[in-house]
Amino acid sequence: MDFAFPPHAEAFRTEVREFLAANITPETLDVSDGTIHDWDLHQKMAAKGWLSGAVPEELIPPDLGGGDRDLLEMAVLIEELQLAGAPADGLGVAVCVASMVLELGNDFLKETVAGPLLRGEVLASFGYSEPESGSDVAAAQTKAARDGDHWVINGQKMWTTLAHEAAFVILLTRTNAEVPKHKGLTMFLVPLDAPGIEIQPVWTMGTERSNATFYDDVRIGDEWRIGEVDGGWAVMKAALKYERGIAGGQFPSAPLLDAAITYCRTTTDADGRLLIDDPTVREQLVRARIDIEVCRGFAYKTAWMAAQGDFFGVEGSMTKLFASESYKQHAHWILDLMGPEGLLQHGADAAPLGGSIEEHWRHAPVTTIYGGTSQITRNLVAEQHLGLPRARR
Ligand SMILES: Cc1cc2nc3c(=O)[nH]c(=O)nc-3n(C[C@H](O)[C@H](O)[C@H](O)COP(=O)(O)OP(=O)(O)OC[C@H]3O[C@@H](n4cnc5c(N)ncnc54)[C@H](O)[C@@H]3O)c2cc1C
Repeated sequence: MDFAFPPHAEAFRTEVREFLAANITPETLDVSDGTIHDWDLHQKMAAKGWLSGAVPEELIPPDLGGGDRDLLEMAVLIEELQLAGAPADGLGVAVCVASMVLELGNDFLKETVAGPLLRGEVLASFGYSEPESGSDVAAAQTKAARDGDHWVINGQKMWTTLAHEAAFVILLTRTNAEVPKHKGLTMFLVPLDAPGIEIQPVWTMGTERSNATFYDDVRIGDEWRIGEVDGGWAVMKAALKYERGIAGGQFPSAPLLDAAITYCRTTTDADGRLLIDDPTVREQLVRARIDIEVCRGFAYKTAWMAAQGDFFGVEGSMTKLFASESYKQHAHWILDLMGPEGLLQHGADAAPLGGSIEEHWRHAPVTTIYGGTSQITRNLVAEQHLGLPRARR
């Protein structure tokens, strides 16, 4: 068994590291406005062809270019972005939505949405969750009613992250309430400057800004529909498929642990001993390092499966579950180790390491919620991996 990446992917890693070293500044890393996206960095990555490079080759129209990076290279890109702490949420959404449009969209959407997304000119956002349906996303109630060649949309979405920066939202709507819930959904790409849309910020404990989005008689043409009428669930499945293109990079604890090691090497306890010389402290740091290596094993396996052309489902759930739960655990351990000072936030004079560990501690729990909560993910692992009976829904 060989865990090494092939030479071309390692050569790409070197290229990415050099790019990040040259382009990441303290301003890039400053996400104090809660938006985990930096336009300058995003556009430079698009100019290097890294957004279009991630889209499957067979979907790329000749005039767009790209499709020339394989999924192992994409895993390397995501890993390096995460290790550098780069604010790159926009990249994942752009690649996923563009791929869906190129596979299932009409010519109008390909030109209006996919091209600008892959050139880094605009962003998209995911409009799936609603106040009453997050885990059970197929229960969406936002209504789209047909009116001749148009659709009229009314409802509310919750957690439409990046909507305040994005040009489009991919919106899951209910078009038929008379059939079982999965069969009455239709997906649209909706331009966020359409009349009747309101975007309200939602601030989270983890500093991240998300949004509630409201749709009040929003009128769009049928050309904005993606997939069949009442066929929205099939489009959701395509979205999952394209998330594999941005697999890997499940190391949220790695920057946290680096910060903790720096802290322990430079901080003394009440007896004047460096924290790193305390065996109990070292044991916790080593335990965290072992977990990160387990995350690496999970992430590399999913990247390898994707590169082989295998659809990973439960393996992705296992990766996400272990990475997010261990991140939360590590943040808790490390904050404990710092004592009360650890609670000082960014901006406070005495905040250790500029408050970065406290920030990780507030951010870690949310990673166990978005993209599927830990409970839902455990259900999937129990059913699909351990073969336990299906959980009652
Ligand atoms: C910061 C942030 C950003 C997000 N960004 C986006 C985005 O861009 N677009 C988008 O569409 N969504 C987004 N989400 C929404 C996210 O996907 C949902 O929050 C998540 O799926 C959980 O849904 P919910 O919040 O409605 O909780 P609920 O589904 O109401 O769950 C509440 C609790 O019940 C548990 N639970 C629910 N069902 C079961 C079950 N069957 N078995 C066991 N336990 C269960 C859950 O695990 C959870 O603990 C974001 C969320 C957050 C917090």
